[in-house]
Amino acid sequence: MAIVEQTVAGGVSFALTDEQKALRELAHEFAEKEIRPKEREYDEHSIHPADVIAKAHELGLMNVHVPEAYGGLALSAFEGMLIGEELCWGCSGIGTAIVANGLGHGPVIVAGTEEQQREWLPPLVEAPLLTSFALTEPNAGSDVSGIQTTAVRDGDEYVINGSKMFITNAGYASWFTLFASTDKSQGHRGLTAFIVPADAGGVVLEQHLDKMGQRSTDTSAVAFQDVRVPGANRLGEEGEGFKI
Ligand SMILES: Cc1cc2nc3c(=O)[nH]c(=O)nc-3n(C[C@H](O)[C@H](O)[C@H](O)COP(=O)(O)OP(=O)(O)OC[C@H]3O[C@@H](n4cnc5c(N)ncnc54)[C@H](O)[C@@H]3O)c2cc1C
Repeated sequence: MAIVEQTVAGGVSFALTDEQKALRELAHEFAEKEIRPKEREYDEHSIHPADVIAKAHELGLMNVHVPEAYGGLALSAFEGMLIGEELCWGCSGIGTAIVANGLGHGPVIVAGTEEQQREWLPPLVEAPLLTSFALTEPNAGSDVSGIQTTAVRDGDEYVINGSKMFITNAGYASWFTLFASTDKSQGHRGLTAFIVPADAGGVVLEQHLDKMGQRSTDTSAVAFQDVRVPGANRLGEEGEGFKI
């Protein structure tokens, strides 16, 4: 935690504000009291840390980027990083289970309409719900232009088919932000993002994937088989998924 606290005259200060220091301290204390005692057991047995997640949520250490208008704290990416660093000091698996939730609903904050934000964000403040970011596929990791999952328009709905791989918290998510191709001829410019409820018909949790580390965060393979979502669940325009 080497932080530059001093500035030279006319220089730039990288010092944390008092609020940021307090936030970091709160997260550190939480990691020490609530995460460290469970770290070994949860990692060894690949236990999903639902109890720790609930406590982090209660304390305001989760879903911290949700705008104030929807009941959230509207913290910055930097402040989220300060929290994440401390939680992962406690245990990188449990920390990931908590922090990666921001990735799941981040696209709604970044690209959701007011209506979409009003529908999907407040429940995350009210309860420790999990969301997943479903981008990676068995044959598309770093290079997302290789995404094979498709979303085909059918009247007022989209029909989604494909497989996603290595999805954090997928086994416990209440919804996914999923990236699919709406126009394969356009490569990455044909990608579109959708909100997909986990209880939509055709969402199949295929496998909890075992790992050599971070075993207390669930990483799963999920299939989407003829999953229908309303057009209202599309984030941004068709083809804006890569940008999102
Ligand atoms: C614990 C865990 C949790 C994850 N959670 C999620 C999640 O919630 N949602 C999600 O969508 N994905 C998730 N992922 C997937 C993760 O984002 C991918 O693993 C990552 O994008 C890399 O893709 P890949 O595994 O297919 O590796 P590849 O893309 O095949 O890369 C393999 C190696 O090649 C290198 N490489 C790739 N392309 C190039 C290049 N052009 N030039 C030079 N080197 C290159 C990479 O650096 C890497 O070392 C998770 C992965 C893990 C391990």
